[in-house]
Amino acid sequence: MSYLVLARKYRPQTFSEVVGQTGAVRILQNAVARDRVPHAMLFSGVRGVGKTTLARIMAKAVNCEGETGSPPCNQCDSCVDITRGSAVDLKEIDGASNRGIQEIRGLQEDLRFMPSRCRYKVVIIDEVHMLTDQAFNALLKTIEEPPAHVIFMFATTEVHKIPVTILSRCQRFELKRVAFAELMAAFAAIAASEGVEIGRSGLEMITREAGGSVRDGLSLLDQVFSLGGDKVGDDDIREVLGLVNQAAFADLSRAVLSADLSAALKVVDQCISGGVDIRRFHAGLLEFFRSLLVCRAVDDPAALLAVSDRDLAVLKEISSAYSLEDIAAGFDFLLKGGEELKFTPQPRMVLEMLLLRMTRAAGVVGIDEILRRLDAMAPGEDGDDGPAYPTGAVAGVSQAAMVAEAKKKISPSPPDAEPERIAPVSEAVSPPEPDKVPAAVDPGKDVRRDWNEFISYVAERRIRLSTSLKLATPVVDGDGLELRFDERGDCKFLEEKENLHILTEFTQDFFQQDLRVIVRVIGESKETVADDQTQHERQNLRNDPLVAMTLEVLDGRIADVRTGPRSRA
Ligand SMILES: [Zn+2]
Repeated sequence: MSYLVLARKYRPQTFSEVVGQTGAVRILQNAVARDRVPHAMLFSGVRGVGKTTLARIMAKAVNCEGETGSPPCNQCDSCVDITRGSAVDLKEIDGASNRGIQEIRGLQEDLRFMPSRCRYKVVIIDEVHMLTDQAFNALLKTIEEPPAHVIFMFATTEVHKIPVTILSRCQRFELKRVAFAELMAAFAAIAASEGVEIGRSGLEMITREAGGSVRDGLSLLDQVFSLGGDKVGDDDIREVLGLVNQAAFADLSRAVLSADLSAALKVVDQCISGGVDIRRFHAGLLEFFRSLLVCRAVDDPAALLAVSDRDLAVLKEISSAYSLEDIAAGFDFLLKGGEELKFTPQPRMVLEMLLLRMTRAAGVVGIDEILRRLDAMAPGEDGDDGPAYPTGAVAGVSQAAMVAEAKKKISPSPPDAEPERIAPVSEAVSPPEPDKVPAAVDPGKDVRRDWNEFISYVAERRIRLSTSLKLATPVVDGDGLELRFDERGDCKFLEEKENLHILTEFTQDFFQQDLRVIVRVIGESKETVADDQTQHERQNLRNDPLVAMTLEVLDGRIADVRTGPRSRA
């Protein structure tokens, strides 16, 4: 007994047998029932979704002589002739091989005569987009004024290649890829009717590979059935279809996105040792990453993905663990790598190189992300402190200034204004090329030269402190700034812990040096020093994760840490 391929054996003969396409089916059935069938129809959609199948059912329906009430009856002479392929009034033309004007003229000649047996002469032109321009022009004349006894049905996978003049004269049916569940149910029914037992995960694999196309799925089923036997296991299906276990793609994605090259290479090795074709493996991984991307980007990904609920859960779990940027970067690498793989005699090495690039790209923080994080840390416009800085000690204004300054350094576009004077960490990060460091470096304040300016600076903030300062003689010794007073009474105010602490802050902010302020009365050995909190602040700033990240991204180093000035009432 000769084997009839499933696509022919299970070709739907009635509207109700069509898998999916419920919208188109309903419209066509109504048209037949009301006897208002258009004279030109166009079915578009990817291969294997039922374009010519629907056209053939329609050809039978319009000519059916049966009394069933829901044509085609598949019993009457007309139906039987069409099913058999022997109906003289049905012309099926392959547009790809009959694309010239001569073929269309021949057809027009034939259409002048009335149908010999049926009510309508039906013309089905498959792959109609292949027709030449002249052929389309000739066809246009006919469908502009179609003979009452002629019905045209066109099918195409590439509707954009069809002239608008033709499109505008056709009733159009855009056939969709068949939904996963619907397709799987159809394949399950066929397997059952063939007496072959296939498990749920096996059917899922076949359905996934079918990608919404009934015909593609049936040809995969053909291959699976050709194994023989009344039971087909998952491993058999994988082997016969050259499929990779989805779990392998899941493992590989996790490895790549976690920058674990070793784990990634192991997964590839296992799959290749198992006999998987590398280019198909790549295509599967690309599809997997596309699904991850959709899951990460879309609230309701199920509508955009032809996957089972189980696979969707895995995709959601992985995609939620990584950033959209990382997933997109992986997808981009795989997409570009496809071209490379096509022509190389060393596909495995190309694939491994691709994985290396993907793992290296994973986890690198983009400039946009850094800017976003910096923004998130900056205090608001109204002067409120932003989220607490790790030390909790740095005043809001200095955070804001640091953020602004860091952004100027990181931002690809040059700042349009000189940094404001309050810029505190102006040289916190030095990019690797020293000659490219912006020349905004302040020569710094000198205690002796700028002492009067410092007193004014303090006076603007704490007038009482400045009054005391005016009575002191400053002496710098290493990192100590000794304030010498002639009389004990002159420095009483400064000796108070809180006041000395504030003065120390002002001093460090103004001179941008780690100066320790020491108060001493000439002739006395007692000295008063503020406890140095600001040094802790600086250390904390150096160790801050944001600074560390910036250093890593820019490959820089910390040259100096500056703080302040603080705003005090
Ligand atoms: Zn019939």
